[in-house]
Amino acid sequence: MSEIEITPIAFDSLGVRSMATLIETKDVILFIDPSAALGPRRYGLPPHPIELKALEDSLDKISTMIRDAEIVVITHYHYDHHNPNEPEILKGKKVYLKHPKDHINVSQKIRAARFLKLLKDVGKPSRIEYADGKELRIGNTIIRFSEPVPHGVNDRLGYVIMVTVIYRDEHVLFTSDVEGPPLPIQRDIIIRENPSLLILDGPMTYMLGYRYSRKALDNSLNNLREIVRNTNVEIIIIDHHFMRDLKYKKYIELMITSFPRNITLSSAAEFSGCEPLLLEARRKELYEHSE
Ligand SMILES: [Zn+2]
Ligand SMILES: [Zn+2]
Repeated sequence: MSEIEITPIAFDSLGVRSMATLIETKDVILFIDPSAALGPRRYGLPPHPIELKALEDSLDKISTMIRDAEIVVITHYHYDHHNPNEPEILKGKKVYLKHPKDHINVSQKIRAARFLKLLKDVGKPSRIEYADGKELRIGNTIIRFSEPVPHGVNDRLGYVIMVTVIYRDEHVLFTSDVEGPPLPIQRDIIIRENPSLLILDGPMTYMLGYRYSRKALDNSLNNLREIVRNTNVEIIIIDHHFMRDLKYKKYIELMITSFPRNITLSSAAEFSGCEPLLLEARRKELYEHSE
């Protein structure tokens, strides 16, 4: 990968709930989902001070790294993807938002309306557009937004849009919160966009048998195999929900052995040359060590 530069800014493997990513081509700098959050309760425990510090550092890094971006994309209105506390970081940017009223659940519709008001009052982007299904061309770069797809196995949590950035032969696809992908519609869009690099919110295995079924996991593993079989993907950055499970390596192993060919599969931390932090998954341990 050389024509499109990918910089993971904040991710679960980097210590916070986020998929904040900077993507740069010769024509444009794009920031997708500039926010981060923490899991409110895990193992019955609130965030550890180490996580609070990681969140502060991540939000600082986002507000620094977003300065050079001309375009900002918000794929949906969960707080780990948009930050209503700092609308001013979007000042002067062209902001492409998930549609605030169409294909959305009630809670996100309320958050979207509030965020739009904040943008107009405080944020002052140079332009606000609804992204769903749109395509932009900037020089030799194409940015394509998918039609809305369910957030996970159904639309209870609403919908997200996926983002593809194309420069010459390279296609980078950011899935946002698909939790797998468990559904044919999510898989088929990924195959259609034929990414060379895929930034994926992998299966939500830490909720297996609770808020994520065995069937959703099996469907996701099958869909991933189909994606590898039917695209030119070389690198998959698998993170977010997937990197909240201490047993993630077991599933990486399962995926790699099921794939019809060799590809690179790594967390955002490993892609950036760091060890995965998994602070939320290690929360119990963090408290034990600090006693
Ligand atoms: Zn979400
Ligand atoms: Zn998320």
